[in-house]
Amino acid sequence: MCVQYSQICSFTKKGGSAESKKQKAKNRGQRTEGKEQNAFQTNKEKDMFQKKMLVSLVLVFFCITSVHAYNTHGVYWPVSSVSYDAHTMSSSWKSAVAYGSGKWEYPADFDWRSNDGSVNDVYLYDIDGRGGVYAYVSHWTLNSWITKIRIRFDVGESWYTGSSTPSSTRLDARSIATHEFGHGMGVAHTQSYRCGSSVSEFSRPTMCATYAYGKTYFRTLENDDENAVEHLYDTLSFIPALEGASQTEAGEEIRFDFVYETLTKEERAKRALAVLHGYVVGISETRFNQDSGEYWEDVSEDGETMYTAIPYYEVDVELVDILSGDTSRFRKTVTLTVIGEQEETSLSLGDELVAYVRDAPFVWRGDTSHSVIMPMSDPLFSLLSRRDDGLYRELDLKDAEIGFSLQSLTQEAMRPQAGVDE
Ligand SMILES: [Zn+2]
Repeated sequence: MCVQYSQICSFTKKGGSAESKKQKAKNRGQRTEGKEQNAFQTNKEKDMFQKKMLVSLVLVFFCITSVHAYNTHGVYWPVSSVSYDAHTMSSSWKSAVAYGSGKWEYPADFDWRSNDGSVNDVYLYDIDGRGGVYAYVSHWTLNSWITKIRIRFDVGESWYTGSSTPSSTRLDARSIATHEFGHGMGVAHTQSYRCGSSVSEFSRPTMCATYAYGKTYFRTLENDDENAVEHLYDTLSFIPALEGASQTEAGEEIRFDFVYETLTKEERAKRALAVLHGYVVGISETRFNQDSGEYWEDVSEDGETMYTAIPYYEVDVELVDILSGDTSRFRKTVTLTVIGEQEETSLSLGDELVAYVRDAPFVWRGDTSHSVIMPMSDPLFSLLSRRDDGLYRELDLKDAEIGFSLQSLTQEAMRPQAGVDE
């Protein structure tokens, strides 16, 4: 057991703190000593050994807590200085954006500069109304290089752009800007076990996938965030001439990262338009938000900012029953619109689901929106699938983790306050 943990520990990034390295070395020493003790001559020796084992286990515990939880896209800017264009934003928004970009400069030894001529547009525009997706980054890559990014903040949120603390009804722009520029550096979302309610907010990494109104803890990077960019940028030799040079090259790929509203289990049940129970009978291909479903880009009136397509897919759920909500609103089959790429879903045809859903105005090409039914928030946390033991779990949870019976989910959904709260 000790050995296994130590092996896990050896995956700790080279960027890990000196302290954790020391602990690792100590721990290794303890382990060797332990192995050499095959037989105990006296009770005193046995006692000593047990004490050492205890110390060793404590060290192993510290060691485990230093295991990294970050993920990267394995792509990076091949230059050490990149500009962005936030010229359509207010000055208070520009400050928030400068704050967010600046947070990554030190750990990555990198420079973000504001330049109204940059193709890396940062702007406010519709996404999906209040809640759901707060913001997203699209980034274009060629091989391992990021060649271009765009960051869009959802105009449907109630933003707080100041530098003090937002009220519980406002969403902190500095926090979300910091998160988005992490994607802009090539960092992906942190593994969800580091982001749940069991982790105190102030030690949750900035690259966790969900966030709540009234919070500021994404403003400061955690070690895990810093290790992620150090991992991406530490050993690079930059190629100074490349910025912006490869934008039209063949083979360029585009990728999207969305940050969603955090909802507790109770909030999810209380605020849902409806809680649906049924089977997945259809999963569409990835489409983009225009009638043809093709990828698109539009230039704004000033000829500078590019509005780009948002990927989505549709999940058809044939209803068995409705645990809460207005039953007259839904037909036998409900189509859920899920923002993101279908290739990334962990849903399969035939899955039995409990789905927490909301009404959302999904932005459509040409300044319009479509009224759709979406999962309440991140589909991983708003859709629960039935597993072999008959219990329902969030999509990212393994079978061994805590699950809920249909009965308990029904009781929770039926509580008197369900559906009436704003
Ligand atoms: Zn994100």
